[in-house]
Amino acid sequence: MDKKPFATREQLEKIREQYPTPFYLYDEKGLRDNAERVKRAFSWNKGFREYFAVKATPNPSIVKILGEYGCGVDCSSLTELMMAKALGYRDDRIMFSSNDTPEGEFRYVHEMGGIINLDDITLIDFLENELGEIPKTISCRFNPGGLFKVSNDIMDNPGDSKYGMTEEQLFEAFRILKAKGAEHFGIHAFLASNTVTDEYYPMLAGILFKLAVKLQKETGAHVEFINLSGGVGIPYRPDQTPNDIFAIGEGVRKVYEDILVPAGMGDVSIYTEMGRYMVGPYGALVTTAIHEKHIYKEYVGVDACAVNLMRPAMYGAYHHITVMGKEGLPCDHKYDVTGSLCENNDKFAIDRMLPKIDRGDILFIHDAGAHGFSMGYNYNGKLKSAELLLKTDGSVEMIRRAETPRDYYSTFDFSHEFDQVLEEWEKRNK
Ligand SMILES: *Cc1c(COP(=O)(O)O)cnc(C)c1O
Repeated sequence: MDKKPFATREQLEKIREQYPTPFYLYDEKGLRDNAERVKRAFSWNKGFREYFAVKATPNPSIVKILGEYGCGVDCSSLTELMMAKALGYRDDRIMFSSNDTPEGEFRYVHEMGGIINLDDITLIDFLENELGEIPKTISCRFNPGGLFKVSNDIMDNPGDSKYGMTEEQLFEAFRILKAKGAEHFGIHAFLASNTVTDEYYPMLAGILFKLAVKLQKETGAHVEFINLSGGVGIPYRPDQTPNDIFAIGEGVRKVYEDILVPAGMGDVSIYTEMGRYMVGPYGALVTTAIHEKHIYKEYVGVDACAVNLMRPAMYGAYHHITVMGKEGLPCDHKYDVTGSLCENNDKFAIDRMLPKIDRGDILFIHDAGAHGFSMGYNYNGKLKSAELLLKTDGSVEMIRRAETPRDYYSTFDFSHEFDQVLEEWEKRNK
């Protein structure tokens, strides 16, 4: 089975006339339909809320669309909080799941009324010093240690991860926070990333629900919400079976009925902080083949590079590629698809079987909607691309312009020395 791009070659060629490649393209319809499904899958829980993990796709237009489906925001840095503030988010529509938290950020989110999700027990003093009080509503992050397994497959290694508190610390933290005046409690855990199985959330829910019952019983703290965090994955490879969000919602409901309801905790709200699942499949990096090279291997050079999408270079991540207009042709050419960085890991695909690629062909790099643009950097002085929204009516809106050389040089004190150079370049590229 192949992956189908959410735009046609004709559409992309037309867009390319106005906005040069590379660019990110997001599919509004896909985003909306998915957000609606997520909402429905958890509608059995009265207090359910998805806090969109802003770091996945920190674009106000995307965050706004998700907001229409009741999504709050999950932030973990000052600038993410600033975006939330600018978009009018406050109070319990903000979750702050930071770690190694710099000074001032707890105060900033507290002033917005957001919920603080404490990563560590030692942060209680830090928080109290900074705020002069302990917030009435507070959440703590749990790390069970060891290996996290689903049906005997190792999903991830929490024992090796920097996040969260041990079980003992969590109980202690609840007691301290309660004694200091906290009244509304939550717990949170993120135990595995990009899980392409419907079992992850229900398994995690089982662990957290049992823990919540024990916490409430032993510390007397009222647990009001349980945050399953992110980690719900997407099928990057065409042979993977996508998660069924309704099966996931139903799986969590069953565990809720089994554990929380009999414990008299049938009023607990379920929160999620999905990033990848909310946007990943609904964003693509669109790039043009600009060179070919035949040495010991066959290379196709494109006009995007790892600065635009870092996941392949960073994790060896697979991103499916469609050569637009050649979907029906046999994949009988083996290519490395590369960017222009002076880094040999700047490859969107290695030994990938694709149809013959000609210069000018448009390559659609799938599933780049989350942790794509946002992870980018500026190595080799390469600039970040524009982000475009393919709207439900078929029109295209630029939701972030491309970076310019002027942006790149704007943080130097002596940027006026670049003025003439920049002005000349800007005139030439009008
Ligand atoms: C990154 C992150 C998420 C989102 O993770 P996804 O895998 O994109 O769903 C949610 N919560 C926290 C605390 C995170 O760090």
